[in-house]
Amino acid sequence: MASGTLQIDFLGSGSAGNATLLRCADQQILIDAGFDAATLSERLEQVGSSPAEITDLLITHLHDDHVIGAAALAANEQLRIYGLAPAIKRASVRGNGWRRHYLSAGQVVDLGACRLWPFAVPHDSRGGALGFRIETPCGERLGFATDIGAITAEVIKALSGCTILAIEANHDRERLWAGPYPQFLKHRIASQRGHLSNADAARLLRRVLSPALRAVYAIHLSETNNCPKLVRDALSKVLPTTIGLQIVEQHRVQRYPPAAQQLPLFAACTSRAASGA
Ligand SMILES: [Zn+2]
Ligand SMILES: [Zn+2]
Repeated sequence: MASGTLQIDFLGSGSAGNATLLRCADQQILIDAGFDAATLSERLEQVGSSPAEITDLLITHLHDDHVIGAAALAANEQLRIYGLAPAIKRASVRGNGWRRHYLSAGQVVDLGACRLWPFAVPHDSRGGALGFRIETPCGERLGFATDIGAITAEVIKALSGCTILAIEANHDRERLWAGPYPQFLKHRIASQRGHLSNADAARLLRRVLSPALRAVYAIHLSETNNCPKLVRDALSKVLPTTIGLQIVEQHRVQRYPPAAQQLPLFAACTSRAASGA
C-alpha cells in the first residue's frame, strides 16, 4: 500500500461477528473485534496484519458480536482503545497495558494522525452505542454506522459529505416478519433501538448522498432475514451508478479500494494535505 492512502479490510460482518481494519500511514485501526480470538487472528493474518500490529481499537458497543475477540489483542502493549466506558470495560482484559480513551458522542478527538468523530446511534446496548466518522490526513472521510435502530439528525450530520460509507443493511422487513425468529425478537430487531432494514438503509443513503461519495459498503446483514440481492436491489435504487456498492459478507474478507482501483484514483497524501491544509 502506498503511504498516505487509506486501505480498508472488512474482516467479516453480521450477527456472528464484526471487525474492520483500516490502514493509513503507520496506523492500523481496528473497528470492533467481534470474532473469537482465533478467528480474529486468522482473518488479520489473511490481510497481512496481526494482533501485535494494531495501533488503535475502536469499539462501537458492548454486544458480543463486536467485542468478543478483544482478548486476542491482550499482549499488545501499544494499543489505544476507544469507546464508551461500558464497552471499554467489556472489551478490556485484566492486566493489559492498553491506553484507554473514553469517548463521548459528538466530541471529536485525535486518533493518531486521523480525526475521530463519534456519534450516538440508537441501539439496545447497555450504556449506548456509537457510529464513527474518521477523517484521514489525505482527505478520506469514512462514515461507519452499524447496529442502528433509527435514523436521527445526528446520524445524518455525521455521515454527510463522506467519501466512503459503511452502513448497516440488516434485514428485509418482509423476510423478518415472515421468518423463523420468535415474535419478541422480531419486534426488538424492527424497533427504533434495533437494526436498520434495507429500506431504512436506502432512506439514510438518500439523505447523505453527496458528490464526494465514491463507495458504499453494506454491513451487518442478517443471514436469516436478508440476502445480498435484496440489499443490492434496495440500495442501487438510490445510488448513482458511479458509486461502487459492495455487500460485506460474514465469512469473507473484502478490501477497499479493490486492487484495480488503487492508484492513481487514490493518490498518496501530499505534505500539504497531511498538514491539514
Ligand atoms: Zn451487532
Ligand atoms: Zn448490537
